Amino acid sequence: MSFADLGLSPKVLSAVQAAGYETATPIQAQAIPYAMMGRDVLGIAQTGTGKTASFVLPMLTKLEQGRARARMPRSLILEPTRELAAQVADEIEVLGKQHKLTVALLIGGVSYDEQDKKLDRGADIVIATPGRLLDHFQRGKLLLNGIQVLVVDEADRMLDMGFIPDIEKICKRLPFTRQTLFFSATMPAEIQRLVNNFLHQPARVEVAQRSSAATTIKQRLAKAPVEAKGKREVLRELMRAENVKNAIIFCNRKKDVGIVLRSLQRHGFNAGGLHGDMDQRTRTATLEGFRDGSITFLAASDVAARGLDIPAVSHVFNYDVPIHPEDYVHRIGRTGRAGREGFAATLVTPKEIKAIKAIEKMMDQEIPWLDGEGLSENEVEEAGSDDKGGRRRGRGGRSRGGAKKSAGGGSDRAPEKAVEAKSEAPVSESAKPADDKPAQKSVDDQPNDKAAKSAEKDDKPKKGRGSSDKSSSDRRSSDKSSSRPEKSAKSDKGGRNDKSNKNDKKKGDNEKVRGMGDHVPAFMMRSVRPS
Ligand code: AMP
Repeated sequence: MSFADLGLSPKVLSAVQAAGYETATPIQAQAIPYAMMGRDVLGIAQTGTGKTASFVLPMLTKLEQGRARARMPRSLILEPTRELAAQVADEIEVLGKQHKLTVALLIGGVSYDEQDKKLDRGADIVIATPGRLLDHFQRGKLLLNGIQVLVVDEADRMLDMGFIPDIEKICKRLPFTRQTLFFSATMPAEIQRLVNNFLHQPARVEVAQRSSAATTIKQRLAKAPVEAKGKREVLRELMRAENVKNAIIFCNRKKDVGIVLRSLQRHGFNAGGLHGDMDQRTRTATLEGFRDGSITFLAASDVAARGLDIPAVSHVFNYDVPIHPEDYVHRIGRTGRAGREGFAATLVTPKEIKAIKAIEKMMDQEIPWLDGEGLSENEVEEAGSDDKGGRRRGRGGRSRGGAKKSAGGGSDRAPEKAVEAKSEAPVSESAKPADDKPAQKSVDDQPNDKAAKSAEKDDKPKKGRGSSDKSSSDRRSSDKSSSRPEKSAKSDKGGRNDKSNKNDKKKGDNEKVRGMGDHVPAFMMRSVRPS
């Protein structure tokens, strides 16, 4: 559909033309007319559909009337991450070129001073992460009663990151007469509740099921071993394919982002990393580098890479199968954008077979294996497939011992142990500065440098005895079985009791290694008297 039919102002139309947008995308064609009528809109759309312009263009048209006053912004866009907020600011810069509007970007990880100044001068548009917006509000630097248009973008990601209470707080402080444009890729019950409470008879527009991936993306599965070193080898092989121009490599955990990144760099790949614990300056610089091509590969976590709009990503590699099927669609959506060809390969270990099945079920589509065969039932059975996270383990966690870990050998134990210890820790984007608040359910976990370093050693080129000895001692210290004798020694200290006797059978192996254990040297068996 042509933009000219959507009721936008001439100024906006000429900006759209200058931006090179020829026809409106389906979400734009559906949402813009309602927004132009002043209706509240509930847009169910994911990134890559052009949804940003679907709220920016009507907003720009509306803001042509009137002027901003000091500390009283006229419109507010809430984004779950700093990157998304910055991305929307970029799009407004392009589309609002002729409008000369003041845009304040209120995100964490950067000083308050500049943001305060912008607000004092009077911002037409505030783009903010919820935590930082509330900080400004509570510091008295911002009044919310001049807001005419509120945009809540990526609401389901806000939910994942624990921002819903903040959004509710913000909504309650906005004028009742405002217009609300609300976007989410999925509609879980909590989001529906928010919509019911804060939107007024919204027009519901929906463009694509969350389960669908762009048809321009070629998807493949690659067999990978559970053991981390072998898994990284498979990844490198995939990355060396001829047509890989640049790629995002997704890991489920922050710690693995670091491990994979350092491993890739050691192997000569031009790589950068992106995860929620990085400071803002590094994140921005890394992203810039990836955008302008000075960084070819980006190892990233879901939270950090959510919704990144980098138009020409040739490949996405999933180092881990995402725990939540819908994350798969988001991840692979970083490639094949704006009608380009894209390629997404997912490493699948025998433990992750259930998770990949869940993704296939959600998409109602089988993803072909690169080798044409996939994993045999034996391989899967031997490794004991991880089920899809969730109840037993919490988000992002790994098995706490239910699944056999035998397939991996020693080298990936250290990181797994670290995950066991930390997987329940609430982390996010926001487990850092004051801006983006707590995340009850974020996928990232805390980095664990010690574990990461020990795993890293495993794929360093062997430099001789010294280094390999060290890494094996690291492995030993993280090996559960080797720590058992210590435990039983402790219990012995306090004297043996009934309970410990009962446990003797269990501890059998450890008890045996005391003294000579079961092994009786032959000379002791010899009779002292000559027969
Ligand atoms: P979004 O879903 O808002 O993240 O947009 C994804 C990408 O599509 C961005 O790079 C936009 O600049 C681009 N885009 C948005 N609308 C259009 C359009 N009508 N025609 C072409 N590209 C567009």
